[in-house]
Amino acid sequence: MTRTRTPVVADWFTGEGEEFRLLGTRCAACSAVFFPREDGFCRNPGCGGGELVEVPLSRRGRVWSYTDGRYRPPLPYVSDPDVAWEPYTLLAVELEAERMVVLGQAPPGVTAADVEVGMEVEVVPGVLNEDAETVWTTWHFRPVSAR
Ligand SMILES: [Zn+2]
Repeated sequence: MTRTRTPVVADWFTGEGEEFRLLGTRCAACSAVFFPREDGFCRNPGCGGGELVEVPLSRRGRVWSYTDGRYRPPLPYVSDPDVAWEPYTLLAVELEAERMVVLGQAPPGVTAADVEVGMEVEVVPGVLNEDAETVWTTWHFRPVSAR
């Protein structure tokens, strides 16, 4: 049986491989960029409000900060207590053009010891979770040096 690949959140990213990009929105009036996307109203208090247009964000950025998740988070976070907790590395990345900081996990196998502040990373497709029918997709930030 082929499992469907479903984004864990709709319309936050698009594309495959080299074309994979995060999606934000940009205010047509003041050029402010939002991620997660803002589709309701421009949140810039100095802006009278403009049309919010979907824009792909920079593929690359630099590590602004990072940490590792070694412990299972408490409820209401959903995790199976019968499955061993897999530590993961969480990166805060300043995107190249937008200069905004976006959170994302590093791919499996990239540990906090492999990362340093200022390191160049790129956004790549990733898998958040899998069950019998569905592969839940997300984004990862991978060190460019690890290509
Ligand atoms: Zn605006």
